[in-house]
Amino acid sequence: MSILIINIKELIQVRENNVTIVKGADMKILPTIKNAYLIIEHDTIVEYGPMSDFIDYNAEEVIDAKGKMVLPAWCDSHTHIVYAGDRSQEFVDRINGLSYEEIAERGGGILNSAEVLQNTSEEELYQQSLKRLNNVMQLGTGAIEIKSGYGLTVEAELKMLRVIKRLKKESLATIKTTLLAAHAVPKEFKDNKQGFVDRVVSEMIPEVAQSKLADYIDVFCEKGYFDLEDTDRILTAGKAFGLIPKIHVNQFNAFGGVALAVKHKALSVDHLEEMRAEDIEALINSTTMPVALPSCSYFLSIPYTPARQIMDAGLPLALATDYNPGSTPSGNMNFVVSTACIKLRMTPEEAINAATINGAYAMGISNQYGSICRGKKANIIITKEIESYNNLPYAFGDNLIDKVIIRGKVLE
Ligand SMILES: [Zn+2]
Repeated sequence: MSILIINIKELIQVRENNVTIVKGADMKILPTIKNAYLIIEHDTIVEYGPMSDFIDYNAEEVIDAKGKMVLPAWCDSHTHIVYAGDRSQEFVDRINGLSYEEIAERGGGILNSAEVLQNTSEEELYQQSLKRLNNVMQLGTGAIEIKSGYGLTVEAELKMLRVIKRLKKESLATIKTTLLAAHAVPKEFKDNKQGFVDRVVSEMIPEVAQSKLADYIDVFCEKGYFDLEDTDRILTAGKAFGLIPKIHVNQFNAFGGVALAVKHKALSVDHLEEMRAEDIEALINSTTMPVALPSCSYFLSIPYTPARQIMDAGLPLALATDYNPGSTPSGNMNFVVSTACIKLRMTPEEAINAATINGAYAMGISNQYGSICRGKKANIIITKEIESYNNLPYAFGDNLIDKVIIRGKVLE
């Protein structure tokens, strides 16, 4: 199969050399080619350039993109899309004045999702999750990370991870899997958190790693959930089984989790709504990607990640959705990019870099995804006719996508 796209108004995020991360001031630079063409063979980008250099090419499918932009598909490096049911009642409870913590204390929150998931069949869980995955692909997401974490028992966590494995097999999307065994302390361990951490370390991690069901290990490192000592134990245990750390940290409180993650050579630190100078300091000269999740801040009305402060320190930044039933029931990366510009004061160039190449880095796949580069996978968004790429964040809430191509196939 081959696809030729001609008359592209602007081909966005073109990288002649295979850049795998963009940091600090470089995030303001978004290389493009105006009036361009692009050739895809099978699942790979093989050639591109200005129309003036185009020499005839005999493609099976030709797309005329006159007036339209072409850019790499979004790389969403943080989601929890495998879940059962929804938590729309809690949404209403919050409108009526209850806080996220109060809802959790009343037995809602993550524990509620865990109970529903434990009682949902694997087939039903797969069907619900597949629907969400197909929906976000239509919204331009081509690569996605999915976490476990609503199981809280060995059995239910394995069920979630098998569902992710099946999605990986059945879907065109590129999927990375994270074991989030320590997402919340289950009810039966309410007064014995250590007992639960012991179980994570001695049962869940070995079982999951031996079944090769996860790439990464995650912890909800937060007051009332898992402290630095728990996080240290879990990351150490995960690493011993070859799972790379990617953690939830600094969402509500800053107490040294970022430095701990960097010490463990975490691939990413996610959330970061509460950042102190020492957290920024810890990230400098590290290989850890800071990840902002602005739709979560939007939905919970909590502070936004201080993106400017992070980028001004010369650091990279990635953007992801955090799609989950409790704090972000949306997997729309277009909204994330808009919110990053509107609320985090990122420029469109910075936000697009953060949602493509740096998102790919936060999944360990930026050598294959996240930019228009010869030899990279053909995951592509073709926009509707728009004035400039600034319209993508500017027209928030609008769907400006005309076509999505994932691994060389045009989505129906
Ligand atoms: Zn999350």
